[in-house]
Amino acid sequence: MSQLAFGCMRLPRRGRSIDLSASRRLTDRAIDAGVNYFDTAWMYPGSETAVGQLLAPHRERVNIATKMPMILVKKPADFDKYFAASLERLATDHIDYYLLHMLTSGGDFEKFAAMGVTEWAEREKARGRIRNFGFSFHGNAGSFKKIIDAYGWDFCMMQYNYIDTEYQAGTGGLSHAAARGMPVLVMEPLRGGKLADVPPEARAVFAESGAARRSPAEWGLRWVWNHPEVLTVLSGMNTIEQLEENLSIASDAGVGAMGEKELEAVARAADIINSTIKVPCTGCEYCLPCPANVNIPAAFRYYNGDVFGSRAGLRMRYAMEAGILPDETAFASQCTECGKCVEHCPQRIDIPRELKAARAELERFWSRPVAAVAKTFTTGRR
Ligand code: SF4
Ligand code: SF4
Repeated sequence: MSQLAFGCMRLPRRGRSIDLSASRRLTDRAIDAGVNYFDTAWMYPGSETAVGQLLAPHRERVNIATKMPMILVKKPADFDKYFAASLERLATDHIDYYLLHMLTSGGDFEKFAAMGVTEWAEREKARGRIRNFGFSFHGNAGSFKKIIDAYGWDFCMMQYNYIDTEYQAGTGGLSHAAARGMPVLVMEPLRGGKLADVPPEARAVFAESGAARRSPAEWGLRWVWNHPEVLTVLSGMNTIEQLEENLSIASDAGVGAMGEKELEAVARAADIINSTIKVPCTGCEYCLPCPANVNIPAAFRYYNGDVFGSRAGLRMRYAMEAGILPDETAFASQCTECGKCVEHCPQRIDIPRELKAARAELERFWSRPVAAVAKTFTTGRR
């Protein structure tokens, strides 16, 4: 399997649809360069169908991974229902890597095991429609180990990057999986882009490390690839520049490629970055759409200060993103605390509570009226 895997959740879009020609330029170039693992999911809007079309000419050269939406599975018949839908959307007769999407606790797995999911998967493997069976995970290390030990999985997928060594499955989970001989696929190597744009203090630590000049994204990816336990690293690339940068990094990164001083620099940068995070949002958008139209990841992005600028500047830019640019306003203060988003969040964020804190930081009495007036003037819309 290629060291770099292609995450297809954020394929380029034109309006609400996936831009197939822009996406094809990316996937064709990736395949030419040797990338052979493409990851999608039933839950990613439009992604499976697009991936099916993009990969059809290359089917024999690539591994397709997709995921059953466990949050929607209520009865055993749903295993067939969602699997059949994925096969059809992907226009293929088999899935190379099939995952139970977003397990978060040992109890989750016990519930689906009691419904017969492992027997179902064994049958599909015997029919040749599933080549490898695994799960993706977003809970804590204890639950991760429990699930690993509960069944003879072919592989697993976990979030891992240099600020998450003690978060979710973390280093403890990675070592446990490796000790069981289980291939580990890593997602979120740059924590939803956070590690591609680190605070100036962290950049200074990298610059002073004595290593060759690198982008923050390169530091993050190299750090994950330095681990022998990691089979491949997923990156959700949606521009040619990102793809080329990642291909170039992958070409000379690998296990043991980082020296002691570089690893020390990464650890110091991690401390700096972790001290700035208020909400561990990765921007995955699983929580959307919100019935009150709150743009949840945008609120957390500004609240965490991922968008640099003064406080006043942040508030203005937030008002623009939440109040002026969208067709319908999307402020944190629109949250009705219905709780619908919470079960979808892989990071287990108490979204309504954190939105209140974000609102207190980002919104002022003028935010919504000023945005409404500005919107009328700039777009003619109300
Ligand atoms: S709790 Fe708030 S943010 Fe979450 S879905 Fe309900 S209204 Fe939207
Ligand atoms: S709040 Fe949770 S589900 Fe929503 S974008 Fe952030 S991490 Fe993803």
